[in-house]
Amino acid sequence: MVQPYLSVVIPVYNEEETLPFLCERLFKSLDALHKTYEVIFTNDGSKDQSLAVLKQYYQRYPDKVRIIDFHGNYGQHMAIMAAFEKSRGHVVINLDADLQNPPEEIYKLLEKMDQGHDYVGSYRDHRKDNIFRTYISKLMNWVRATLTDIQMRDQGCMFRAYHRHIIDKIVASQERSTFIPALGYKFALNPAEVEMRHEPRVVGSSKYSLYQLIRVSFDLITSFSLVPLQLFTLFGMAVSGLSGLLVVYLLVRRLMVGPEVEGVFTLFAILFFLVSVVIMGIGLVGEYLGRVFQTLSQRPRFVIREVIEDKNIGKGA
Ligand code: UDP
Ligand code: MG
Repeated sequence: MVQPYLSVVIPVYNEEETLPFLCERLFKSLDALHKTYEVIFTNDGSKDQSLAVLKQYYQRYPDKVRIIDFHGNYGQHMAIMAAFEKSRGHVVINLDADLQNPPEEIYKLLEKMDQGHDYVGSYRDHRKDNIFRTYISKLMNWVRATLTDIQMRDQGCMFRAYHRHIIDKIVASQERSTFIPALGYKFALNPAEVEMRHEPRVVGSSKYSLYQLIRVSFDLITSFSLVPLQLFTLFGMAVSGLSGLLVVYLLVRRLMVGPEVEGVFTLFAILFFLVSVVIMGIGLVGEYLGRVFQTLSQRPRFVIREVIEDKNIGKGA
């Protein structure tokens, strides 16, 4: 089995309705490129018929389709990670299953790669998600740009191309709870970005709840920056300094004016504020500690039930 030029990696979670539309357009676009390719789908514990649909496409294109069937739902980034591990292409492209990233635009990523870039990200022209999602995403982009040295216009856009050397480094890093586009960027020597059309989801709805979006954002920040912890230290130092001044001031007042009890509510307001900051700080430390725990526990990041692929694949390149 020769190494294909291109590996296309697609995480799938309850996408039975979208998959036929996706495959229809994807294979047509890939054939039009006249390059050798493979498509790796990771079924991320779907509860619908996604796996059955994928198997139909495997029957149809056994030399091109490979399926990784996860034992449970490990999340989009781990689904991509598993497919990266299996991928063989010289260039690896990741896209969503829901057709929000049009497969017809894959050529744009490859054109940029041909210009000598080893990482080609993308940003969505006019984002077709609800206003709430769009604003959360803008905020998270700002937080990432402020706290980390990762520079990209649109971190939420997963439609990206990675050179084999980056994929090998991502796989070797054995990260968990990570954010793949940011990790890839870390290893890129010559990154670039292109604009992509963004389409509304054809069928089904977003697989992310608000809680999961928050979790992914935490993964992004805590994986790539210690700045939040350092900000807490700085804040603590500033508050200590101010409190010290307040103590001196109150002491002087005590001596000059005598005992006073007014201003209790102001005191409570300040106290509540500081206690909430302390609780947040404990949570933040917990985020980092949790990551250390996960890494040290050395459990597998995901469990694969089955890999459905042509038997000859993987038997030497
Ligand atoms: N996805 C996944 N596991 C999950 C959630 C999502 O594999 O736990 C896949 C999903 O099937 C899709 C991609 O990740 O291919 C992006 O998900 P979605 O379109 O729901 O995210 P959004 O576009 O709302 O950010
Ligand atoms: Mg989507």
